[in-house]
Amino acid sequence: DLHNSNNGLPSSNSDTSLPYSSIVNLDRGDTVLLESYWRKMRKESIVEIEGWEFLSYASDLKSVCWFMMPELRDAIKKLHALVGNAETDDRQIVLGNGSTQLFQAALFALSASSDGPVNVVAAAPYYSGYPDETDLVRSSLYKWSGDAKDYEKQEAYIEIVTSPNNPDGSIRGPVVMSNKCDGEGKLIHDLAYYWPHYTPITYQANHDLMLFTFSKCTGHSGSRIGWAIVKDIDIAKKMTTFIVLNSIGVSKESQARAAKIMGVVCNSYQSFKFDGSNNNKESQLFFEFNRHLLKERWEKLREVVKQSDRFLLPRFQKTYCNFTNESFETYPAFAWLMSKDEEDCGSYLEKKLRVVARSGNRFGSDPKYVRINMLTTGDDFDEFLERLSNIKDITF
Ligand code: PMP
Repeated sequence: DLHNSNNGLPSSNSDTSLPYSSIVNLDRGDTVLLESYWRKMRKESIVEIEGWEFLSYASDLKSVCWFMMPELRDAIKKLHALVGNAETDDRQIVLGNGSTQLFQAALFALSASSDGPVNVVAAAPYYSGYPDETDLVRSSLYKWSGDAKDYEKQEAYIEIVTSPNNPDGSIRGPVVMSNKCDGEGKLIHDLAYYWPHYTPITYQANHDLMLFTFSKCTGHSGSRIGWAIVKDIDIAKKMTTFIVLNSIGVSKESQARAAKIMGVVCNSYQSFKFDGSNNNKESQLFFEFNRHLLKERWEKLREVVKQSDRFLLPRFQKTYCNFTNESFETYPAFAWLMSKDEEDCGSYLEKKLRVVARSGNRFGSDPKYVRINMLTTGDDFDEFLERLSNIKDITF
């Protein structure tokens, strides 16, 4: 998630008249918050690979996705079975270099047999990667067509449903069906954040084509592992063709590490002995541990926003989670911060606080919004809160 037009750098040069000498960059989608759990699990999560291993491109020639290692397929299925967030039985799993590559593979597969370019839409605010990735190579198979809420063409379309949504954390379903459109429609469900550290698990998703990513699940964005769960075997075959022609598969070192890490998550639940206290869960169990950290950040941010009275944050209702058997709110990986007074919240934060965040207009929305990364480093997050809480004292 690095699609900033300016590579995450602020647009202005350093200005010594500003009250802060350093820049706090909350633009990127990095997932460093999840690091502390993995530091705790150092020994359990080590992967050793010897020089003779993993020379072949292939892993399992009997499978549709023949470059995927069987142990990773098994680990993914086990993790979904544990959490209950997605159905994997009788479905194909296609592996990609992050869900970024799989998104493009899905566009290719879903539009490969149509005549004209298929319209690709998502309800605004939508993840800024979608328009950029859709139009990058100006494909004749598909083209970006903007906000799904406005889509009324009688033409074939693909709607991307992101739930919980990046950037605003909302829980979503498709919207085009309910418009006046009666063109042929296909759906991609991007469920990158449908894990119980971010949101209650309310149903076992069983959509036609679902995307998940190691980046947001365990925090290992740098391994570049994503997977698609696909009902239709022909679509899975086409997606595999795309990945093969694009990168002849996915690094086996990354696959081995992903399998190991997912195994550690599952084992923490299998070996857990509940002593009746929530502390015990929050110190040992992966999703509970990280939800606790994220919840703390959300509470601190809400408090500072309340004090300043200049911004608004979205609110989320408590919902029952089938995985944890508790009710809790969604704690999104991003905060969708709205300025009450400023038309351009991004440049306001940058000029006044030297805080860089992604502007609402990158998400097909209004520049009075910005997206703040809630999974950034502790230092950056604390510094951001500090600057935000001092905002009223700054006069220049
Ligand atoms: N989908 C969504 C909704 C995302 O937020 C991101 C990353 N920010 C991606 C896909 C891409 O993730 P990956 O690292 O797996 O390519």
